[in-house]
Amino acid sequence: MAVRKVARLPERVLKIRCDELGESDAGELVQDLLDTMEVAPACVGLAAPQIGVSQRVIVVDVSAHPKTTACNGTIVLVDPVVVEYSGRVVSREGCMSVPDLTANVARATEITVTGRDAAGEEVQIHTMGFETRALQHEIDHLDGMLILDRVESVTSDVFRRKVYK
Ligand SMILES: [Zn+2]
Repeated sequence: MAVRKVARLPERVLKIRCDELGESDAGELVQDLLDTMEVAPACVGLAAPQIGVSQRVIVVDVSAHPKTTACNGTIVLVDPVVVEYSGRVVSREGCMSVPDLTANVARATEITVTGRDAAGEEVQIHTMGFETRALQHEIDHLDGMLILDRVESVTSDVFRRKVYK
């Protein structure tokens, strides 16, 4: 287990489609993702390409976030697939791989995702609200999609992050 360096644009690993993990052991990768998420302030999720691994694994934990309504605790998903989604709302998002910017991104408001956990067991997550947004954001990473790829307008939907001193 280890805290890993988080990849930032324009690193290529962030812009390519990740491979399915399939039967391979996800244990070490999952632990590195959890360790790296834990030390990052206000981080609610991380995808494997963000620590330089081009495989379809994400972790999400919105339990400490003020916008959280529905919450499934610490979610680990290997080879996640969105099987159902509904609703649409635009809200501001940030990303550790795009540290200087935030963006207005439209996401579904309710989602069902299937995949496997670190032990290879099938899991299905159904959730609403902010956790839905976090899951979609991380799953986007697995397809090389970043918040800047999701905005309707780069001139009106992208914002420089405020620096608080
Ligand atoms: Zn991100």
